Amino acid sequence: MNRYARQIVLPEMGQEGQERLKSASVLCIGAGGLGSPALLYLAAAGVGRIGLVDDDAVDISNLQRQVLFKETDQGTPKVEAAKAALAELNSECQIEAYFERFSAENAEALLKNYDVIIDGTDNFSSKFLINDACVKFGKPLVYGSILGFVAQVSVFWAGHGPCYRCLYPKPPSGHIPNCAEAGVIGAMAGIAGTVQALEAIKMALGLEWCKEKNLEPLLGTLWILDARSMQTKTLKLHKRHQCAVCSANPSDIVLEQAEESCAAKTDVKNISAEDAAKRMGKAVFIDVREAHELVSGRIPKALHIPLDTLLSNEDSVGDIASDTPVIVYCQHGIRSFSGASHLVALGFRDVAHITGGIVRWKDELA
Ligand SMILES: [Zn+2]
Repeated sequence: MNRYARQIVLPEMGQEGQERLKSASVLCIGAGGLGSPALLYLAAAGVGRIGLVDDDAVDISNLQRQVLFKETDQGTPKVEAAKAALAELNSECQIEAYFERFSAENAEALLKNYDVIIDGTDNFSSKFLINDACVKFGKPLVYGSILGFVAQVSVFWAGHGPCYRCLYPKPPSGHIPNCAEAGVIGAMAGIAGTVQALEAIKMALGLEWCKEKNLEPLLGTLWILDARSMQTKTLKLHKRHQCAVCSANPSDIVLEQAEESCAAKTDVKNISAEDAAKRMGKAVFIDVREAHELVSGRIPKALHIPLDTLLSNEDSVGDIASDTPVIVYCQHGIRSFSGASHLVALGFRDVAHITGGIVRWKDELA
């Protein structure tokens, strides 16, 4: 137990919490950029049984962010290399490797033997399937994603809070560039995956334990980091009453793999206040600030849709056609990026957000 001394000393953990981790099981779907740090920290923390699902092999281009792997692992199935690395780190941990792609067919068999599920995938198609499967089989899901410099983590658990489809009802339509075009700094995946590991540990300890110890899992809360400025924000998410998945009877949920697309890439353009001003009259401006912030100035004719509303209510964009150019802004350009990314996910094809927000607009155009 000397191994875990540093965490057992925490009143939120203690010997009993450590025992809980030992008897818990976590399944990580995807052993890549998010899965690498998540798996390392879960094994190090002493989670008793860890499953990993991935059908890919280690490639040299993975090493920039997938810290589980070494140069000598190239060509080896990721689950095999990961299992070896995790076993070296903590031999007390039972590692179960599944060299397959998570699919509608194997979902039940994979999920049923685990307490907590981590989504370590990087594409919409898998994220929707994992969500639907977790709702159907009643599993808590620790969701994570990175879009450039923006990381998002949340915990979805039907019956206890909203699901991923309450946030994004359906996979995005329209052109989504392929995954190789998407850029990412490895440390961004490190941050998101590490936060996922922490949330998985809270969920493994259990909701009652968390409540008693003042630990608040991100259940029904979306955590957003914009690493360009290091600003963070948490948004309350709400269950959508007409959600096609978590409002349905679990036995009626049909698991389907959506068409392949890449979630790591966003089409959101960063534009300056000056360039945004040139597009007045041609683009629809959306102000995603809270009502009380509007007194500090508004862009004429901008629609006001607070970010929480935009994210939680599909109808909030009303009758704006998806081919309409849209420019999103907020106070400083943090929330606007999330709002703009959401519009891309909803299928809008020409979406920009104003770098620096209304503050920059006022500075440059006053
Ligand atoms: Zn839902």
